[in-house]
Amino acid sequence: MMTPHASRLRRIAAVGGLLATIALNVGCSTNPATGEQSFTAFMSPDEERRVGKQEHPKMVQQFGGAYDHEAMKVYIRDLGRKLASHSEMPDLPWTFTVLNDEMVNAFALPGGYVYVTRGLLVMVSDEAEIAGVLSHEIGHVTARHSAQRYSAAVATNIGLQVLGVLGEAAGIAGAGNVASVGANLALKSYSRDQELQADELGVRYMTRAGYNPDAMATFFEKLRVHQHIEDLERGQDGASEQHNMLATHPRTADRIQQAIKLASKNGHQGTTRGAAEFLKVVDGVTFGEDPEQGVILGQTFVHVPLDIRFEVPEGYTLENLPTLVQAKDKNGNNIKFAHETKTAVDEAGGMKEYLTYEWSREMPLSNIDWLDINGMRAVTGTATATLNNAKVDVRRILIEGRDKRYYWQLQFVTRVSDADKLNTALRRTTYSFDRPSAAEKTAAQGKHIRVVNVGAGVTFDDLANSLAVKKYHKEWFEALNGIGPDDPLIPGAVVKVVK
Ligand SMILES: [Zn+2]
Repeated sequence: MMTPHASRLRRIAAVGGLLATIALNVGCSTNPATGEQSFTAFMSPDEERRVGKQEHPKMVQQFGGAYDHEAMKVYIRDLGRKLASHSEMPDLPWTFTVLNDEMVNAFALPGGYVYVTRGLLVMVSDEAEIAGVLSHEIGHVTARHSAQRYSAAVATNIGLQVLGVLGEAAGIAGAGNVASVGANLALKSYSRDQELQADELGVRYMTRAGYNPDAMATFFEKLRVHQHIEDLERGQDGASEQHNMLATHPRTADRIQQAIKLASKNGHQGTTRGAAEFLKVVDGVTFGEDPEQGVILGQTFVHVPLDIRFEVPEGYTLENLPTLVQAKDKNGNNIKFAHETKTAVDEAGGMKEYLTYEWSREMPLSNIDWLDINGMRAVTGTATATLNNAKVDVRRILIEGRDKRYYWQLQFVTRVSDADKLNTALRRTTYSFDRPSAAEKTAAQGKHIRVVNVGAGVTFDDLANSLAVKKYHKEWFEALNGIGPDDPLIPGAVVKVVK
């Protein structure tokens, strides 16, 4: 038992300063949830709570902010607290947060901080399914997996910060570009053993609260259908960048059944599904992108509140991240777009000074030039750099917003070998910066979940085709409702659609 302690201590000493805030507790303790001797006790429960409290606001910021929907917020908070009261740590100050993120995910921080995304909630059909998700996350906290993972993430954070600086030289500057420790650990996966344990604990807590544990299996099937949609959307490549529930929680259907069996053997049972309770709250929840955060329409990015739009060339795939918008092609050429405050530009001494000194401190720019982009003043410069062993051209453009409240940062990183080929297209992207058209404003309006009754004579195809999604209608209907093309559709049954 001494060896793991000793090796951990060495690792912590090796990364020194950053870990100074985490005191060490070398005692062995028995985990009340798992009954196991736990080495994770090198973070004391007090420290777990402090770390959770410190990381919580950063997590919320990194994942799109808290979802502004009072009914859902209260519902998840109350359900989460009820489930946690059946855990071995009922007295933790449990905090349950709905994130305004369309990705399908759920995670936990040490100290009782549990998160679910709006994207996950739209796929839930009843209270038992969301109880299964929340209980599973509670299980990661009570088994102290989240504390283990936090410690490991902090230990590697020096590496992340170094990467962050390099990334900034080659990427777009600005706070928030480097993910917080919490966000980084949220996107890491647990081990399969930890997943089985979280499922077992999850089944324990949800059944103690009276919920039917089969809901854990039915929701898992929907996650698989959703994963299939993501695979279809990505095509062959890009499979490495998975930040969804199945990537962060690697589970299998067999393992979940095993967890349900184990729990029922120990006398845990429950029957409640609670469809009506959940469907009442999910009706009207935003589906997909939130127009307040900007919307991707094919090759065009439209942000109505900021009154801006631009297009990227064919072959680039746009991605709307919480702190920036980026577009990449399959060769690794990329475009990044972010906004900067007037204060930051004023403090630098002006647009040219901001571009050359503030933004590009680590990468001196040459060919400084002024541009007029659809009536907006802009200043640009270029540099060459090496990225992933390839020589790249970097072009940065700072554009003054029309109302002069914001400045836009636009950056192109293009492999030198592709530069000639892409030159005209990238120039077109630069000059596509403008106000959104009336048609784009209409198209950028948000979509919402609606709960409807299946009418007499209505078929699966009718319902699937009615969904306001761009592609994969049948798969989306199945992911939202757990009803596939071969399942019976009962007239009068309640289903979710997208409008
Ligand atoms: Zn998990």
